[in-house]
Amino acid sequence: MINIGCHLSVTNGYEAMGHQMMEFGGNTFAWFTRNPRGGRAKDIDPADMSKLQEILKNEHFGKLVAHASYTMNLCSSKPETRANALDMLQQDLQRMEQIPGQLYNFHPGSHTGQGPEIAIQQISDGLNKSLWPKMQTTVLLETMAGKGSEVGKTFEELREIIDRVELNDKLGVCLDTCHVWDGGYDVAGDLDGVLTEFDKIIGLDRLKAIHFNDSKNECGAAKDRHEKLGQGCIGMDAMKRIAMHPVLQNLPFILETPNDDQGYIEEIATVNSWMK
Ligand code: FE
Ligand code: FE
Ligand code: ZN
Repeated sequence: MINIGCHLSVTNGYEAMGHQMMEFGGNTFAWFTRNPRGGRAKDIDPADMSKLQEILKNEHFGKLVAHASYTMNLCSSKPETRANALDMLQQDLQRMEQIPGQLYNFHPGSHTGQGPEIAIQQISDGLNKSLWPKMQTTVLLETMAGKGSEVGKTFEELREIIDRVELNDKLGVCLDTCHVWDGGYDVAGDLDGVLTEFDKIIGLDRLKAIHFNDSKNECGAAKDRHEKLGQGCIGMDAMKRIAMHPVLQNLPFILETPNDDQGYIEEIATVNSWMK
């Protein structure tokens, strides 16, 4: 059994997301900790948050997967962008303590011309300035498609970041099926091989969440264009094999497919039908 859900809007608060996901038929979800384009985060109402926590417990939800802003780039060549990213990361992680024990996913970043080596050091430095021993959130590095100057398109790059972070027991990885496919990992033709490679380089114990997306492009295209389940180049048979794979059971699977509410309800129902 996996946990399945999709991205939700936090506009109506936290309890509302719990109810909405119950209506959608899922048992996990993702949300942006602030406007995906950046900007200030709204204060959390503790009463609202505790109502969500009751739902999570009573309805047996899996771990939730918060998503950082896309503008948060710890390895930009611009110092002010890096400083701003560090601020966002530190504030987001403080806020996550109001919903303890969940997952916080972020894009490692884009090196914007500096090259991956400098970028990896800057990302690790940012994490070293932001993690603390008693924090209750696990911070996830997302596997990236390699579009532009994105860092984190290979398992080796993610391993490098993890190795340079002191409190790396707080770190995990979120595997985005569209991104790894676009990055050249053949999750359709050789899923076992990809997971074996992941285990060898990073360790499967670090794998904490799946972004469950089909891809509009061929394996290795480095494009990052998500597609609905079964309508892309990965295809429904392979998506099903991923959801059913024994080593991926008990993980939260988050749909980031191009859908409206009804589309998500249908994809969640499809995944749930596989689990029966
Ligand atoms: Fe993402
Ligand atoms: Fe993703
Ligand atoms: Zn993507």
